Amino acid sequence: MRLKKWLRPALRVRTSQQQQKDRRVILLTVLLAGTLMVAIALFAFTSGNAGHELATLATADVASEGEEANTTARADEQGAAANIQIADQQALKRYSLFYFYEDARSTRYLDYQAAHPELSAEQVVIRVNVDLDTVDYEVVSPASDVSVINTLVSKHYSLPYDYEPADLAYYGELLIKSEAIGPLDQLIADASADGVPLSPTSGYRSAATQETLYNGYVASFGYEAAEVQSAHPGFSEHQTGWAIDFSPTNYLFYDTPQAYWLAENAYKYGFIVRYTEENTDMTLYIHEPWHIRYVGSQVSNYMHDNNIASFEEYWVKYVQHTPPPLG
Ligand SMILES: [Zn+2]
Repeated sequence: MRLKKWLRPALRVRTSQQQQKDRRVILLTVLLAGTLMVAIALFAFTSGNAGHELATLATADVASEGEEANTTARADEQGAAANIQIADQQALKRYSLFYFYEDARSTRYLDYQAAHPELSAEQVVIRVNVDLDTVDYEVVSPASDVSVINTLVSKHYSLPYDYEPADLAYYGELLIKSEAIGPLDQLIADASADGVPLSPTSGYRSAATQETLYNGYVASFGYEAAEVQSAHPGFSEHQTGWAIDFSPTNYLFYDTPQAYWLAENAYKYGFIVRYTEENTDMTLYIHEPWHIRYVGSQVSNYMHDNNIASFEEYWVKYVQHTPPPLG
């Protein structure tokens, strides 16, 4: 477009005025916008902050409630722990009254008692002392001096596999400790005189024989039944030469005149019925009324007169430990 000459200067003036105005408008707008944005940002920040503060307060509230609960729970726990500690100390005090208490087993007594609340303090100490709180055949000690008459052989006290007693002698076809032959012969003679014939069927057995026997039990009755009826090789009392079985060595022997006669009279000859109905928890074998063990008449009479129900108990009280002198 071509402007008329005279118009040009005016236009130029107007234009520059217009431009200045425009610049002012833009500047103002920018300023306003900036202020607005700052205001919005400030508002957002403060309100956000306030929200945050509120949230913090709420959290603090919850936290303090939670803390209170935690504190209460902790106090309860501490109280319970303190109670347990007191109870444990009281229990340990009860256990330690027995002269056969062993300090090294204190935690085990407490654990065993917790698992068997029905047992008395004395029963707990005796059982833990013969390691009944451990897995059968896994925690094993060598039987104490195997040559002596009061050695304990159990699922936790074993004999060397190749152990063979030095002084075995024949009784009929059986081998037993020579010291036990006289008393056994007398016992059988007296029972017979009472009209109760007894036929001994097994005495000393080597670990190899025991192994065959045990495997036979497993094959016939299965593992679990075998475990409570037959010892593992190296864990049988028969290997000591002090044990004798009478026939039949199974449930047919229960409730027979032979079973009753032995239960009533064996102690008079220095023998004990080793696995009774009352002591299965202690011996870990079923009732075996056909199995007697020679311990000598002093021990057998003592056990009888003092109602000591298992050889384990006798062993803990008089072999593993020695009672303090009387008076
Ligand atoms: Zn036997």
